[in-house]
Amino acid sequence: MTFRRFVATLQEVEKASSRLAMVRLLAEAFRELPAEEVPLAVNLLQGRVAPEFEGLEFGVAEKEAAKALALALGRDEGEVVQEVKQKGDIGAVARERLPEQEGGLGLKHVYDELRAIAEDSGPGSQARKRERLARLLKAASPAEGAIILRIVTGRLRLGVGDATVLEALALAFLGDRAKKPLLERAYNLTSDLAHVAWLVMQGEEALRAVRLEVGKPVRMMLAERLPGPEQIMEKLGPHYAEHKYDGERVQVHYDGRRFWVYSRRLENITHQYPDLLQALAEVQSRPFIIEAEAVVTDPLTGEMRPFQNVLNRKVKHLTEELLEKYPIKGFVFEILFEDGEPLIELPYTQRRERLEKWFKPHERLALSVKRYVEDVRQLTEFFDESIEAGCEGLVCKKPDGVYEAGKRGFKWVKYKRGIAGKLSDTLDLVIVGAWLGRGKRAGSYGSLLAATYNPDEDRFETITKIGSGFSDEDLGRVLPQRLGPYRREERHPRVWSLLEPDVWFEPAQVVEVEAQEITLSPNHTCAFGVVKEGRGLALRFPRFVRYRDDKSPEEATSSAEVVEMYKNQWPS
Ligand code: ATP
Repeated sequence: MTFRRFVATLQEVEKASSRLAMVRLLAEAFRELPAEEVPLAVNLLQGRVAPEFEGLEFGVAEKEAAKALALALGRDEGEVVQEVKQKGDIGAVARERLPEQEGGLGLKHVYDELRAIAEDSGPGSQARKRERLARLLKAASPAEGAIILRIVTGRLRLGVGDATVLEALALAFLGDRAKKPLLERAYNLTSDLAHVAWLVMQGEEALRAVRLEVGKPVRMMLAERLPGPEQIMEKLGPHYAEHKYDGERVQVHYDGRRFWVYSRRLENITHQYPDLLQALAEVQSRPFIIEAEAVVTDPLTGEMRPFQNVLNRKVKHLTEELLEKYPIKGFVFEILFEDGEPLIELPYTQRRERLEKWFKPHERLALSVKRYVEDVRQLTEFFDESIEAGCEGLVCKKPDGVYEAGKRGFKWVKYKRGIAGKLSDTLDLVIVGAWLGRGKRAGSYGSLLAATYNPDEDRFETITKIGSGFSDEDLGRVLPQRLGPYRREERHPRVWSLLEPDVWFEPAQVVEVEAQEITLSPNHTCAFGVVKEGRGLALRFPRFVRYRDDKSPEEATSSAEVVEMYKNQWPS
């Protein structure tokens, strides 16, 4: 396929009025592509040349890209850099300045060149990247150049989520959007959309045969919430509860030689945990995939420190000093693979048995503390003990529950401490719009429109306006900076809203929000019509708590969860 045709599809997708229209446009383009180009297109339309977990970045800052554009145009560097700065959009400058071209670039050629740019590193790479990009731009039409520059500078942002791509692939190659779950399973096990695209073209059998692989992150299983011990006992019956540690969840892969550490968002964060990997290497020599909560401990007393301490280690170059000041202990709670054998289909009790056999003591490692609880009294006692021990509460686990990759379900239920007069848990919401501020907040945002995620419809449903909890710094600088790149003229097709804010955003930024209660509302679309006809759910007295950059928009609180929270907010 020509890159031109691909670019035309992207332009249509950007203008699409509904999610379904996006799916259809993408499916049509996928069908037109030669098979070997489908995986490439899947990566490109997410602005990448490799799955996210490979961490392959272009390493081209906007200024460098502007210099490459200057080179392609034969213009003065400083001038073009200035023009890009003024316009604030390098794509727009390319569209205006590049000359029309006859013929056109091949999609594969563009992909190969972009990949070469990403892979080039080391001394002199900056100049080589710039020259390669300039050559590509020189052969590109204005529209092609604009997309190429948006891709390399990380500004493509079509808001095409993974679910949309999977659905489009199902429609294109299995003839039916409803077959998405088959693709989802393969995706949950490999976290590689381009690989799933490759498989779906081989047919349903190939999809069914997918297994997890050491080195490729498994999309993590998540916990549902319930308000209290009674509801948990009712839902799970007698079960195993485990301490809920307050650190960073890590998935560690080991193939016998090499380690990989993946975050909740499946980013490769191996370099952030040399001490944890050292400990694992000292006690294990055979391949495995485990999950643990990485918690910072006090270097003197060994006591657990709160989550914020983990953030102190998130620097580019982790020094010995930081490692000593913020030592890590890994509380291991899952084993997904051991010595050639995937374990995720085993029930919890058997996985835990395998985990306990696999585990070997080390001062930087511990097994999550667990207990079998048979009634509310035992559960609350164990909960109190967990708080005493410095944990956030419990994760209650269904004894026969398999590890459901990429799913949030009731096989795990979290039990956290409630705060009097507040909902017992916070919500993680996606910012989809904003109203401009007045008075003290002039020039910034007055309030934000926040949404939950509805995975069945793959859309974002509004639940509240948030105006409080932000510091002056947030309002004046941080929010415009964080949200600016996602601003759009019109509502994003995956957002469902009855309100009309002053500005819209692509669903990207997740924030944690606390509130006093959940109420019915005719103005919000969260779970609209589920509890009551003509009514959605809304938050009363919402307050911003913190940014949740570790969560993707699809990992925000789901509309179904809010329904559960609504029903459970006044436990009898
Ligand atoms: P929260 O917002 O409550 O911090 P979350 O939204 O990040 O949690 P949840 O699915 O709600 O994630 O809660 C489960 C999380 O609890 C896991 O992702 C993991 O990081 C953490 N955790 C701590 N201890 C355990 C444990 N023993 N078993 C499973 N998960 C645990």
